[in-house]
Amino acid sequence: MRYAETGYNLEIDLSRGNIERVETDSKLTELHLGGLGTNAKILWDRVPPDTEPFSPDNLLIFSTGLLGGTPAPGANRTIVTTYSPQTLFMGYSMMGGFWAPELKYAGYDKVIFRGKSPDLIYLWIHNDKVEIRDASHLRGKGAVETQELIRRELKEPNAQVAAIGLAGENRVYTASIEQGRSSASRLGLGAVMGDKRIKAIAVRGTKDIHLARPAEFYDLCNDVLKYIKFRNENPVPNVMTILQGLGSPQEMLHFDEKWHTENFMWGNARVRKKDYWNKEVEQKWRETQETVRTRLISCYNCPMKCGAIISVPGLSTYMMKCFSKLTYTMAAFSDLDFGFRIAQRATEYGVDGFSTPQVMAFAFELKEAGILMDADFEGCPSDNEGKFFWLLDKIVRREGIGDILADGTYWAAQKIGKGAEAYAHNNIKKHEQLPLKLGMLNPVYFLMYATGEKINITQIEGQFPQSPFMTMEEKKEFVKDWIQVPDEKFKQIVLDWEMRGERSNPYYPTVDMSVDIVDWQEKMHYIDDALGVCSGLSSFPLKPPYHIHNYPRFISSASGIDMDEAGLTQVYKRNRNLIRAINVRRGLRRADEKPPEDHWKKRFPELEEKLLDAYYKFKGWNKDGIPTKETLHELGMDYIGEDLEQRGII
Ligand code: SF4
Repeated sequence: MRYAETGYNLEIDLSRGNIERVETDSKLTELHLGGLGTNAKILWDRVPPDTEPFSPDNLLIFSTGLLGGTPAPGANRTIVTTYSPQTLFMGYSMMGGFWAPELKYAGYDKVIFRGKSPDLIYLWIHNDKVEIRDASHLRGKGAVETQELIRRELKEPNAQVAAIGLAGENRVYTASIEQGRSSASRLGLGAVMGDKRIKAIAVRGTKDIHLARPAEFYDLCNDVLKYIKFRNENPVPNVMTILQGLGSPQEMLHFDEKWHTENFMWGNARVRKKDYWNKEVEQKWRETQETVRTRLISCYNCPMKCGAIISVPGLSTYMMKCFSKLTYTMAAFSDLDFGFRIAQRATEYGVDGFSTPQVMAFAFELKEAGILMDADFEGCPSDNEGKFFWLLDKIVRREGIGDILADGTYWAAQKIGKGAEAYAHNNIKKHEQLPLKLGMLNPVYFLMYATGEKINITQIEGQFPQSPFMTMEEKKEFVKDWIQVPDEKFKQIVLDWEMRGERSNPYYPTVDMSVDIVDWQEKMHYIDDALGVCSGLSSFPLKPPYHIHNYPRFISSASGIDMDEAGLTQVYKRNRNLIRAINVRRGLRRADEKPPEDHWKKRFPELEEKLLDAYYKFKGWNKDGIPTKETLHELGMDYIGEDLEQRGII
């Protein structure tokens, strides 16, 4: 009997139209837990490192996590993994919603696609019955619209459907995979889905998941629910509103956007509008949001309600996710009403709400600079909002200049030339980052930005405060009930950290402390992504219900795997090194690990080198960021060391 997981994957060969139900090796679950960990193992084992993202040999994996679909609150993430067309490294992105639990109830832990379908298809998984179905009638349909059309066609209102829109069909590098109130948006996974000619995957499951020690597991789940209630009633004091609670930043609940609009950059992540927020704007934006927000909604088995159903008059309903509320607005220097309208179209097209607005603003900056010409924008309306709608259409259709822009700012700049590279200034590893430009280098964030394999900073940061507290009282207040820390030393760092003087950024936290902090934050993200638990209840907020001290019991009581903190740390290290090795095999080196040059005004090249040196050393990697044979041996992964040695990498 397998517990927490089903013990079966679905293997779909799209080129041959073959479907197989394959039993998995429980030993791999012990080593990697599931979700991201076992996805990485499959990618390492089965996809040669020189495989192009759009090759039939590339795999596209949709995975549940080990706890996915169990009663653990927030255990609903679908972890999608492939080689990214944008970074060319391993790309993985998570979506919330309901899809992963439904897949587990259908009896599978993962769906693994290989090959390429000759025609547009969708996959229908209904417990033991799995079919590849024609999707030619869905060509060009919106990602949200497709979900509904398939549910109707199948007469299965409870089927969960993950779908791409036109952007994915046209292999736009910023294409997302949309599902319910969520999406796997980053790193162009929707483009790989489109390349394989998969329009959607529909799933309906009615089976049970077995738990090893259900009574103990339920007690733990109830503790988490109690803690969520407590935290919601007792927000963390003395930090920004969006950091006080749990979940994703709950953009659709909050109205106060002073911090975002004045600190995040507008346009192509270049212009700060210091005094933008005032009473008049607040009133207008509040009215806009209240008018279109039909209701707040949650993902599967979670009380947090981070998303919202949006009904803009005259447009079909969609779900607003997180920060997309502001990205289009700010890219176009417009207001919230425009943001809600264009986000509806963008969601139907299925594009990443972080990258796509930046790509469009980048194009208009290039036009202003005379690098792109009027001829590139033939037919473009002259009004600001019309321009953005026009360009979005061109990008997702890959028409004219849209075809070049559809590859994201990095690749577009390479093609355009004439100095366009300087305008693609917000990338790490060829991928657009949050439009933040700050003053003083923060050593912890430097390391997370530079070395993160997940690429997206919001999915790396987490439990350690972003900046020091103002007073000793505030510091003491913060550390007094900080049960989540893996070690008491982190409390002392918070107590000693100052806004100014010797114990302030960039030299405090010190190099070694910064490495420790980053390792803790990474650890929690890697564990969440293997378990399929939403980071909004674990690695992302300051004081979450899941942490390193209670996770081992969740894992043991759910799966029967004997797990303690030390064992869980080993799993994390294994997964971290495995993913690093996959990317190293694809060419990742130290030179790639740098945040955007203008991310901080004040940079410290010598310190930054020291930070990287110390981080690599801590991880057991060489000076180029490559895991050493000894490190891999300690983790029981000699096979990786041997492979890297044979390739002359180590
Ligand atoms: S915390 Fe928010 S994003 Fe996470 S599972 Fe709950 S509702 Fe979804």
